[in-house]
Amino acid sequence: MEPLILDGKKVADDIKERLQTRVGELKNQGISPCLATILVGDDPSSETYVKMKGNACERLGILSKRIHLPKETTTEELLDTIYQLNQDSTVHGILLQHPVPSHIDERAAFESIAIEKDVDGVTSLGFGQTTFGFGDFPSCTPAAIIEIINYYNVELEGKHAVVIGRSPILGKPVSMMLLNRNATVTTCHSYTENLPEMIKSADIVVAAVGKPNFIKGEWLKEGAVVLDAGYNKGNIGDVEYETCFEKASAITPVPGGVGPVTISMLLKQTVDSAEKMGVSVK
Ligand code: NAP
Repeated sequence: MEPLILDGKKVADDIKERLQTRVGELKNQGISPCLATILVGDDPSSETYVKMKGNACERLGILSKRIHLPKETTTEELLDTIYQLNQDSTVHGILLQHPVPSHIDERAAFESIAIEKDVDGVTSLGFGQTTFGFGDFPSCTPAAIIEIINYYNVELEGKHAVVIGRSPILGKPVSMMLLNRNATVTTCHSYTENLPEMIKSADIVVAAVGKPNFIKGEWLKEGAVVLDAGYNKGNIGDVEYETCFEKASAITPVPGGVGPVTISMLLKQTVDSAEKMGVSVK
C-alpha cells in the first residue's frame, strides 16, 4: 500500500489561514506584527532564505523589517543591532539568519536576542524552556515537525522515535519535544554505531542530518512514519525518498514537507509575540 503523503503545504496553508484572522484582529487594535530579520554578509542561500521569510510575512500582512549588514560587521556591531531591536517596541520578533561570517561569535549573537522576541527559538534559554515543556517559542523546524504530526494524528505515545541529528536548532529540540509528548526517543549522531539497526527499531524517523538521500529505505521498519527535515542543494532531502516511500506508512516529501511548515511556524510565533506584547504601531 502506498504511504500517506504528509503534505506540508496543506499544513502550512491551514496555519496561515488561521493567522490571517489573527493579524486582522491585531490591526483593528492598531497593532502591526513585525518580524525583524538580520542578514550578515552576502551568502546567496542565506539571502534567499531571508527574502523568502520576509516575503512570507508581507503576504500575510506582517511587517518585515529587513536589516542587511556588511560581511565585515564585528560581533560588537551585531550585538548592538540586536540590542536596539530588543528595545524597539514596534518589533515583535527577531531572526538572525544562520550562518553569520566565521569571525563573528554567532552563539553570543543568538544569546543576545531577548527571550520574548526569540520567535525563531535560537537562545539557550528558549531551548531550556522547550526542554522543560513550557516555552512559548520552540525552534521553528522542530515545531513544524510536531505540527505535521498533530495535523495528521500520528500516534506518539509509547512509540519509538529515532532522530538522526543533534544540532541545537533541530535534532536536540525535536528530540525533547517528542520526549515531552511521551515518545521513547533515541537521538543519533555521527558517532552512533549501527545506525541502520537503530533506525530499524523506529516507529517514527526524523531525519536532520544535512546529507542528501542519506536514510535508505532498507533501514526502515515496515510502516514507519518518516519526517524529513533535510534540505540540501537541488531540493533534496536527507531521506532517499523513492526507497523509503516503499516501506513507510507516511512520509514528508522534499520540497513541500517540513520546509513550508517551518516558515509558517515563524509567522505564527511572530503573531503570538505581537498578541502577547500588545504594543501599538500606528
Ligand atoms: P547540522 O548542524 O549540520 O547537524 C547535522 C547533525 O547530523 C549533527 O548532529 C551530526 O552529528 C549528524 N550527522 C552527520 N553525519 C552523520 C552520520 N553519518 N550519521 C549520523 N548522524 C550524522 O545540521 P542542521 O542545521 O541540524 O540541519 C540538518 C538538516 O536539516 C539540513 O539538511 C538542513 O538543511 C535542514 N534544515 C531544514 C530546515 C527547514 O526549514 N526545513 C531548517 C533547518 C535545517 P554530530 O553532532 O556528531 O556532528
